Amino acid sequence: MSRRNGYNFPALILVVVALGGFGFLLWSNAQPAPSLRAIVPTEALPTENVNAWQNVLRAGFGSNSTPLPTIAPPPTQAAPPTLARSGEINLSPVAPVAVNAGIQPTLNAFVTPTPPPPSVAPQETGVAVTAQVVTRPPSEWQPPPLIPPISRDALGRDHYWFMRPVDSNATNFALFSYPFGSDGPQQENPWRVHHGIDMPNPIGQTVRAAGSGTVVWAADGLRIEGGTFQNSPSYGNVIVIRHDFGYRGQPLFTLYAHLSGVLVAPGQFVNGGDAIGLVGNTGRVTGAHVHFEVRMGKAGDSPNTIPLYGATVNPLLWMVPYVGRGVIAGRVSGLRGQLLDDQTITVRDWRTGLVVDSTTSYVYYDSVNDVNADPIWRENFVIADIPVGRYEVITNIDGQRVSQILDVSEGTTSFAELAPPDPQSQPTTTPGG
Ligand SMILES: [Zn+2]
Repeated sequence: MSRRNGYNFPALILVVVALGGFGFLLWSNAQPAPSLRAIVPTEALPTENVNAWQNVLRAGFGSNSTPLPTIAPPPTQAAPPTLARSGEINLSPVAPVAVNAGIQPTLNAFVTPTPPPPSVAPQETGVAVTAQVVTRPPSEWQPPPLIPPISRDALGRDHYWFMRPVDSNATNFALFSYPFGSDGPQQENPWRVHHGIDMPNPIGQTVRAAGSGTVVWAADGLRIEGGTFQNSPSYGNVIVIRHDFGYRGQPLFTLYAHLSGVLVAPGQFVNGGDAIGLVGNTGRVTGAHVHFEVRMGKAGDSPNTIPLYGATVNPLLWMVPYVGRGVIAGRVSGLRGQLLDDQTITVRDWRTGLVVDSTTSYVYYDSVNDVNADPIWRENFVIADIPVGRYEVITNIDGQRVSQILDVSEGTTSFAELAPPDPQSQPTTTPGG
């Protein structure tokens, strides 16, 4: 795994522990004791990369101490929520200067993991996709998120209905190295398939409801009983909200895991933006973060109506993009049209030629433990928060460089179809660069 070096990790760990302990003392004196306890992991820990957490923790403690931005709740009691008019720009009530001032360059200091060696011969020409080190420009800062719900797509396909579960002066984007649907960056000893996204933050960072609804679970571990059983102690302290809006007749749930504190109780109604918990490291983790899931439908016979893993969808297609940013979703498929797993997809700025982001693809097996494609987009990869502009989306399929050029617009999804070169059926691909 290739990562930026130069941090003094032992010193960093001391600082993190000291600050964390001090923060915990402050917090524990100021707050009622969390109603739930941490659990001791009993299984192996095939979880997130430690160095990644340390980088993030370092960045998190470098953040300023400005007050947390006020998050305006979306219209409540609406099913579905009222959507912003197409083209309308919803500026956050948060003054941009107070949001990420001073911390973003550090937060963006990640590099993506070096992808596993390709199983096919690398291409001879063009961009060596799998060898790219991805860094966001250090000068780049992240504006506040748009205000949900928005759906600016002319065909109504978008559903950016949820706000981010942590504030703008925290890490409120997904960790690169363990995206939704991924089984981790390494081929051997794969991690479990990821049903959500991770936002690394210091212990005690406020976790907020992504939308309005009723708390249906707040406990140490998630236990769903019914015809099919899910028991997930590895979540640690976990909250589930059933939202008071659904999607095309299906109920919507969001899940927040690994919390150090729980501030709500089952049955309680919350508005989007309400503080519901505190970031922690309970359950099966190697570092403090909030694990965020979106589950849709499939509540089935579960008495508490929480659907199983088999209802999880990619949160990046539900969480509002930042101002001036859009989302790229797409599908990587093989010669027979089958979806391809663990493909590295790289996004390159068409104007500057710089790689701006990358992710990996996922597949579905339609089991109760599986992830799902979006019901509309049928994607198998998503990259969020791409600045408005023109991009080339690139992958390697059977040794062939396959790419598509597309434009990203604010607050909308742009879709890429990446398939092996076939002039008759795939006119949009550009083999060989
Ligand atoms: Zn996670």
